[in-house]
Amino acid sequence: MAGCQLTPSQIEQAVDFHGHWCPGLAIGLRAGEYVINNLGRADDEEVVALVETDMCAVDAIQVLTNCTFGKGNLKFQDHGKLAFTFFRRKDGSGVRLVFDADRLGSPDSEFTELNRQWLRDEISPEDKQRLMAMREERSKDIMSAPLEELFTVKEPAVPMPRSARILTSLKCEDCGEAVMESRTRRLEGRTLCIACYQEQG
Ligand SMILES: [Zn+2]
Ligand SMILES: [Zn+2]
Repeated sequence: MAGCQLTPSQIEQAVDFHGHWCPGLAIGLRAGEYVINNLGRADDEEVVALVETDMCAVDAIQVLTNCTFGKGNLKFQDHGKLAFTFFRRKDGSGVRLVFDADRLGSPDSEFTELNRQWLRDEISPEDKQRLMAMREERSKDIMSAPLEELFTVKEPAVPMPRSARILTSLKCEDCGEAVMESRTRRLEGRTLCIACYQEQG
């Protein structure tokens, strides 16, 4: 089975939500496609996503899988990896998809270097044009590759996150703002929010 099986409207929704078309969004689309094929969508069978990056790909994942921060079924671990774990609440089954980053280019490739210059706003107009062409080429490659070439499928590295979110809140004894009990810290007998704790700790 080759190439992306998503509908043009699914792809369009993700581009609208994200604001532009890019290789990162393509990676998220393919990860979402894997989930739809193998686990279902969060509105009929509740899916929980644990993402290890906060970049472009996650927007496509939210649109396709219906896992969002607000629903509590999108969790973020700041590991800086293109790795996405999905669990199906019903039976606890899960997978961790790790994107093959070599597909985008090695750390010393011209593509990586041009991206760096672009992020620093130090790219010449000619190089920018070349970079945009390279990005489009990579997006196309990601959309047309078989899923099994794009991702290594591993076992989840962590147990399924708990669903219950405790909504009790306490007042921080320093700033006076209400804070979820599970996010409070104790310092010298006082209950503090994380921000005040870090300031004083
Ligand atoms: Zn993007
Ligand atoms: Zn505080």
